[in-house]
Amino acid sequence: KILEGFKSLYTATAVQRLLDEDAIIIGSCNCDEFAMGSSNENSVHGNVLNALDNTKVPGGSSGGSAVAVQADMCMLSLGSDTGGSVRQPADFCGIIGIKPTYGRISRYGLIAYASSFDQIGIFGKSIDDIALLLEIMSGADEFDSTALQSTVDSWRLADTIDEGKKYKVAYFKEAIHHPSLDKEIKENILTLADSLISNGHTVTEIDFDLLDYVVPAYYVLTTAEASSNLNRYDGIRYGYQTKGNNKELTEFYKQTRSEGFGKEVQRRIMLGTFVLSSGYYDAYFSKAQQVRRMLVDKTEAIFAEYDAVIMPTSPTTAFTIGDKNNDPIAMYLADIFTVFANLTGIPGIAIPLFTHSNGMPYGLQIMTKKTDELTLLKLADYLIKNEAVKST
Ligand code: GLN
Repeated sequence: KILEGFKSLYTATAVQRLLDEDAIIIGSCNCDEFAMGSSNENSVHGNVLNALDNTKVPGGSSGGSAVAVQADMCMLSLGSDTGGSVRQPADFCGIIGIKPTYGRISRYGLIAYASSFDQIGIFGKSIDDIALLLEIMSGADEFDSTALQSTVDSWRLADTIDEGKKYKVAYFKEAIHHPSLDKEIKENILTLADSLISNGHTVTEIDFDLLDYVVPAYYVLTTAEASSNLNRYDGIRYGYQTKGNNKELTEFYKQTRSEGFGKEVQRRIMLGTFVLSSGYYDAYFSKAQQVRRMLVDKTEAIFAEYDAVIMPTSPTTAFTIGDKNNDPIAMYLADIFTVFANLTGIPGIAIPLFTHSNGMPYGLQIMTKKTDELTLLKLADYLIKNEAVKST
């Protein structure tokens, strides 16, 4: 709402690169306001409904993009993934969703939520399509100094028929035995791990005692960054402006922002402002940064030994609309398996593999070390195509 009537003056690098290759862009999609949410219930345009069961959420925040592909309205779509917003809706909708390495795709023209986490991701139904889009959009960009200089390894040129490759895979004990994880999802992932082993791969359960800190660290750091990024929406130069007759500037800002931002966005701006305020900065913001550093170090050590880490994407399948909307903490905690990749900057992909006894789809999340999207795509493709491994 705060961007009411706003029309961008320029085209985002990611979109421009697609247009340069003659991609046909057919529309823009609904999402949670400022990409804040996990269910698409925080949109001023209303909920997006899961096309498989319209009483269920599609996931969020990029719920519209997920359903557009799920319902065959388009072949591919884009979303932004700050803490899971591409992978989790892909999982809830039974399609593929990739969050590349931080910096892989330029953020120029992407509305900022938490700049050190935000990354453009891709939804699709085939690894070939997704890899092609990734290749086109990635690469250095003079308008985004955080964009990686290196180019992504080409999927088309790669030796993708790598049948003989034996992967060294790890999963976190604390994740797979997490009390919030649905029993059926847990059992199926463990069976999948067994079947990978019987196909000659190595799958090892490893300790990851930092897991309980990832959601708190994520919500302290992202809200801090968001409170700063969202300062620019003041109603003066563009977007929504209060209709109230306010002569006093501070009052004008206050009213415009109170009317223009939704409840969840306001909650996060306040939380972010709080954790950055003097007196609380060290207790929250600095601590969360220290946690992030520990996570990065630990992750590097893990990938020195393993090709990939596997995890569920979400603790449950798509939940019913309204179920979690009045309980922000429950909603935040459900991001437990996805925020790790954003805190550490590594790439992650959600692939659809199973149907739950409740009728909804779910799959697996795979992560690799930074910039190793090629291994990520290869392992994903192998799991999607290899019936022997997946029909456990
Ligand atoms: N659900 C997470 C959040 O609300 C992730 C959102 C995202 O990746 N944009 O912050």
